[in-house]
Amino acid sequence: MDTTAKLTLLLNDPDLPEALKAIAEKVLNKERITFEEGVYLYQHAELGYLGVLANYIREEKHGYKTFFNRNFHIEPTNVCVYDCKFCSYSRLIKQREEGWEMSVDGMMDILKKYDQEPVTEVHVTGGVVPKQNLEFYSEFFRRTKAHRPDLHIKALTPVEYYYIFKKAKLSHYEGMKYLKEAGLDSMPGGGAEIFHPEVREKIAHDKCTAEQWLDIHEQAHKLGMRSNATMLYGHIEEFWHRVDHMERLRQLQDKTGGFQAFIPLKFRNQNNQMDHVPEVSVIEDLRNYAIARIYMDNFDHIKAYWAMISRQTAQLSLNFGVDDIDGTLDDTTKIYSMAGAEEQTPAMSTQELVQLIKQVGRAPIERDTLYNVVTDYTDVVFEQEAKPQYYKLPVIN
Ligand code: SF4
Repeated sequence: MDTTAKLTLLLNDPDLPEALKAIAEKVLNKERITFEEGVYLYQHAELGYLGVLANYIREEKHGYKTFFNRNFHIEPTNVCVYDCKFCSYSRLIKQREEGWEMSVDGMMDILKKYDQEPVTEVHVTGGVVPKQNLEFYSEFFRRTKAHRPDLHIKALTPVEYYYIFKKAKLSHYEGMKYLKEAGLDSMPGGGAEIFHPEVREKIAHDKCTAEQWLDIHEQAHKLGMRSNATMLYGHIEEFWHRVDHMERLRQLQDKTGGFQAFIPLKFRNQNNQMDHVPEVSVIEDLRNYAIARIYMDNFDHIKAYWAMISRQTAQLSLNFGVDDIDGTLDDTTKIYSMAGAEEQTPAMSTQELVQLIKQVGRAPIERDTLYNVVTDYTDVVFEQEAKPQYYKLPVIN
């Protein structure tokens, strides 16, 4: 049964409450749901219902296509001047002996290891330290482009930029322009956490505010750069805080159209100051992906980080609105493993990623950062797979 038939069947269910029926009708008619309806879904909608709606939208937008890219991460430092309570990654300046702080040369050495690899993107993010300032990053971006002009630089979040631009006495627009000219191509979605001050002040009191985060993305979009947006969910926030977060992003997207993907990030409770807060279930993860897909009607993509939620949940998420499961990673990020994610050494070959996607009946598409198709793996058979599986037969003399 196709997704339209499933949605029609749901609409004809005499036991479906009126409020849920009205939301399902909106989805069928491609109408936007309201803030109140978003909260209502979190409070009352069951997983099966949400899956039908989210999958309908996902397949209307992308069919069976599931995107991934070949990237690697550079994390210039895990030392940070800030003190986010959920952070398992940063070693505050006073714990410096457990931290690392790279030089531009050190970052270039990592980059050069990928010279012979068909990667399309370097993803740069980490902590915030005074030494890694505007000149530091502009030098790194310039040297990267001089060394490998084809590599897309997706780097830093408004958390770093706000700090760097303030020190350099530049406006958000001037700072982004300066770094774009140095080679920056786009921005990842981190540092958004939960925008509402009621929650933000408790979990991330000293870093950039929601308004500053949103403004830096807006300035980047004005300069023609694309970016992503995240939401850290499943800790002390209430459902309406999540909807408020998505609403602010939806409004900025209406204005600029510069966001590509929305990425819900699950709160993990190991090695941080919030280890007393229980994690939410996989069911709640899937409900959250689905509601994000329904609410964020002007975002093209909903992304799940397989390294953070496990490979199996990533597979399941593909039926709940997700159409992108990020990249090959190659064990170059410590952000998820230090927070207690199932993947302690996150690395997947292209073949493994392709198989993961095919196992659940989806079409694996390798993309570049801007979602141009690099390779459609739907009908690609890998060499090892193509070999016939001969069984040893007894030899009869
Ligand atoms: S989440 Fe980011 S800004 Fe906050 S302490 Fe960790 S590294 Fe620093």
